[in-house]
Amino acid sequence: MSADQSASPQHRQLDLFGVAASSPESALPNGGIKGESGSGDAMAEAPTLVRSIVRVQLEGSAALELDYLVPEKLAGRVRVGSRVTVPLQRQRVPAVVIEFLAESPHSGRLKEIAGMVGTKPMFTENLLRLARWIADYYLVPYHQVLRTMLPQAVRARPETFLTDSRVHLVKEPPAEVFERMSRCAPMQARVLDMLRVAGGELALSSMRRDLPRAAAVIKPLLKAGWITRSEARIERDPFQDEEFIPSEPLRLTTEQQEAFDRIHELLAAPAQARPILLHGVTGSGKTEVYLQTIARVLDAGQTALVLVPEISLTPQTIERFKARFAARKDRIAVLHSSLSEGERHDEWFKIHEGRADIVIGARSAIFAPLENLGIIIVDEEHEPSYKQDENPRYHARDLAVVRAKLESCLVLLGSATPGLESFENALRGRYELLRLTRRTDGKTLPLIRILDMRLERRKGTGISAANAGILSEKLRAAIMARLERREQTILFLNRRGFNTSLTCTACGETVQCQDCSIPMTLHKKDHRLVCHVCGARRLPPAKCPACGDPAIKFTGFGTERVETVVREVFPQARIARVDTDTVQRKHQLRDMLRDFRAQKLDILIGTQMIAKGLDFPNVTLVGVLNADIALNLPDFRAAERTLQLLVQVAGRAGRGELKGEVMVQTYAPHTPAVQFARHNDFDGFAQQELEHRQVFHYPPYTHVVMLHSRGKHQTRAEFALQTLHRRLLDGLPEGAVMGEPAPCALAKAHGQFRFQLLLRAEKIRPLTRHIRQVIRSTTLPQDVVVVWDVDPVSLL
Ligand code: ADP
Ligand code: ZN
Repeated sequence: MSADQSASPQHRQLDLFGVAASSPESALPNGGIKGESGSGDAMAEAPTLVRSIVRVQLEGSAALELDYLVPEKLAGRVRVGSRVTVPLQRQRVPAVVIEFLAESPHSGRLKEIAGMVGTKPMFTENLLRLARWIADYYLVPYHQVLRTMLPQAVRARPETFLTDSRVHLVKEPPAEVFERMSRCAPMQARVLDMLRVAGGELALSSMRRDLPRAAAVIKPLLKAGWITRSEARIERDPFQDEEFIPSEPLRLTTEQQEAFDRIHELLAAPAQARPILLHGVTGSGKTEVYLQTIARVLDAGQTALVLVPEISLTPQTIERFKARFAARKDRIAVLHSSLSEGERHDEWFKIHEGRADIVIGARSAIFAPLENLGIIIVDEEHEPSYKQDENPRYHARDLAVVRAKLESCLVLLGSATPGLESFENALRGRYELLRLTRRTDGKTLPLIRILDMRLERRKGTGISAANAGILSEKLRAAIMARLERREQTILFLNRRGFNTSLTCTACGETVQCQDCSIPMTLHKKDHRLVCHVCGARRLPPAKCPACGDPAIKFTGFGTERVETVVREVFPQARIARVDTDTVQRKHQLRDMLRDFRAQKLDILIGTQMIAKGLDFPNVTLVGVLNADIALNLPDFRAAERTLQLLVQVAGRAGRGELKGEVMVQTYAPHTPAVQFARHNDFDGFAQQELEHRQVFHYPPYTHVVMLHSRGKHQTRAEFALQTLHRRLLDGLPEGAVMGEPAPCALAKAHGQFRFQLLLRAEKIRPLTRHIRQVIRSTTLPQDVVVVWDVDPVSLL
């Protein structure tokens, strides 16, 4: 079989999951944490004890754990969590020390560790414990988890810092010496001048700007003893050019104060505290509560880890943190995907070396090697992007809960629309629920109006019937009113491109990607059909590829078409479109948003890139062009996603002095998700939706495990799951429910056929144990990839 968890062929059976994990049964993130984690393993022993035998985990594909001797020269330096190189079959391979042993079954035949990477252990003991937990819970090999925990740049090139020389003026030469120098050695005299002006010290690199040969020029000065030279590390700081105006803590509102006081109280005894769910409507000042909480944590000499979704990790967010902690902004580290490799390396080492006490990052920052943690904050905790979509398929929000337990620190999950998993935990008292029900500015939440598009389509004054389906009459009038009042509008549509499909009106054929089972989208600017799954591009055909009829028609709309229509209808407006077609680089997004904020634009059209976390005071209208996209997803979370989206998008309106209005276009106006969003009634929605979930045995009342197969040959991909299905039936734990293997909603992608099999159970451990057992003992077709996803966030 070629499961992507698999290791080198000769070890396959053994290697799938590594050795049996000693991790706790009890810590279920979605089910709350009971009992003590990671107890009883040898890692709990003092790492500084000098013992001669260690057990290591190889980092490479083989998930073997082997024993080695610590050589004399490394005695006392090698610790639990150290990265080392060890001899194996005449090679040197990287490994991680996981345990000190009093004795080994192989004593007498043990080889010595060859070397050590870095000076300090690269993994804290708590992170090693977390890795065990992940390996066990998500059914992945331990070594794979360890690899995931270290950024690539740190793993491949540890401690490769850039350095720069600094030149220091020792003493100034007497006037007559300088005089002579100015005549005979003018370059050297200039160096001394530069140093004097700079206050006695300069980086060689900055000297080179005026004096390209500075390195050679300073030599005689060094020799004569007028100057000295030292080497200093320079950090690749992703924000070195940004300016931060310090901000003062705001006077908290009554609600904020109550939440803050309670959090503060819990900070005193975090080991006894439950995870906190902060449910605060958009604009209720959750971030201010985070900031003031972090200040307390720092005052107590502890550190804070803040997770935000990648998409909201904007300069705006980071600025807010740097501004508040301006006095110690150098002690803030940032980890996210658009850092360069070098920057990520340096930010990681900043944390590793204890030079950071606030870390802000996206999903993978949950592995930041912070010590002495006081709090972990997960903002927008409902965001599906916290789930990693390759192995190990961990959920960073859930790991935050587990890590907090291991670190005995507080964990705070915040959202305007909590995930139903977290909300249910709060309702059941496993999490502590804190609420912010009002906006800080005292304004009511924006009025949400539902526009029934079944009626709108037929109306059309000054707009074609087809385009009226994109911009309803009411929405057009509302935009017009904003233009007249010089207020701003955001139009939201979570779909790129011009048309979403090309269909033959004669035979009904829709032009699909050859490699994927979805319609291709027209991108008009490039005049190409594009597959949004695999990126394939081709010329749009002039006639139907199936029946040859020329009556082939584009239907549906994406943001590109919206832009065209809006420009047509409002020729006077200044318009920009934000999606992955128009924004290829981070600074483009930043510039566009800056222009919008500066009111150089009237209308911003965009995909989910603009749905979250943005704060524009002059926006008084938000139009959701098609609320049904999320609603029609073949996923039991479709309603939850729709509600979250509508509430988040609506939160962009009326943030300043002016009152906001939200218009939602839909063909399904009476759907509960739409109606509850309209009344801003999250609790009502949650109550109804949870009842459904309970009746139909869906999360949060069960855990789901999704098995997924894919391969070029349809029958073999299907057969793989059928085989697993048959073998899983035998001994399926009591209470677990298994579906039938079926094609995925996206039945084909990248030329591979895709099938899935869902299993559900109230108790996850017996189920995963069973699955692990079956997968280990099943041989599957070579050309089929089987993956498994515990607690998947999407069933596509
Ligand atoms: P949320 O994160 O809940 O959406 P924010 O923290 O972004 O809300 O706050 C929304 C706005 O309210 C921000 O502009 C923020 O500066 C402001 N704000 C937050 N707390 C207060 C307060 N106590 N007094 C006045 N303004 C506040
Ligand atoms: Zn494709």
